Amino acid sequence: MPAMTTDIMIDAQQIYKAFGNLAVLKGVDLKVAKSEVVVIIGSSGSGKSTLLRCLNNLEKIDSGNISIENEWLVKNNDLKQAVYQSEREIKRICTKMGMVFQHFNLFPHMTVLQNIIEAPMTVKKMKREEILPLARELLKKVGLSNKEDSYPSQLSGGQKQRVAIARALAMQPDIMLFDEPTSALDPELTGEVLKTMQNLAEDKITMVIVTHEMGFARAVADKVVFMDGGIVVEQGKPEDILINPQHPRTCAFLSRFI
Ligand code: ADP
Ligand code: MG
Repeated sequence: MPAMTTDIMIDAQQIYKAFGNLAVLKGVDLKVAKSEVVVIIGSSGSGKSTLLRCLNNLEKIDSGNISIENEWLVKNNDLKQAVYQSEREIKRICTKMGMVFQHFNLFPHMTVLQNIIEAPMTVKKMKREEILPLARELLKKVGLSNKEDSYPSQLSGGQKQRVAIARALAMQPDIMLFDEPTSALDPELTGEVLKTMQNLAEDKITMVIVTHEMGFARAVADKVVFMDGGIVVEQGKPEDILINPQHPRTCAFLSRFI
């Protein structure tokens, strides 16, 4: 269901980003409303990961404006060059976003529970006993209550990814960003991770998800954004973009999934 409120959580305007001579984002606009689930699709190399990474400051943009919950993170000066907030403000604003990566990025030397409580303790200066109840609640939510003392190496890929989701949620973000969270998983393990994300959508968590799982996009997305060659080619309701795409590039991309 579309968000009832029009609170804008992410407002990215005319984002440009190059790596050396390689222009990767060429004027991307992206708006995400509160409780909205936005799925970004597109071929490899189209700039999807770079866009997500720019939203939470893992990469710096060259030009454009990004606001998170109506606070500017970066905006253009008169020369259309991106000017960032102070490091301190960037940190504060980006803590509103949690990110889940394709390759889990769990700390291998820490147990599942330690992985989850680490950032709240070091970044948010929460006490261990303060964060433990939330950590355990989140482990329950992702179906891993019995794994809190396990190490990542003792878990399946699907379990690792569910820990990574719980770890991101432990920072109590307002927005969750997912970059191909099931792409590294064996096909039989993708379902449990997609189900976990579907549960978050039902909890009305605002999410931006890069994925090739078209069935999931169709079922869960409020909005689908198709990127190609560093631009947003078209976006709209899943049934419009996935069933009745208007642009030949979208049709060509989708024909690979039939
Ligand atoms: P996608 O996630 O859609 O596959 P990416 O955003 O990862 O696309 O990459 C878009 C383009 O940017 C690719 O050509 C990629 O090789 C290039 N790229 C991504 N990150 C870097 C980087 N850190 N340095 C140089 N080139 C990069
Ligand atoms: Mg990518």
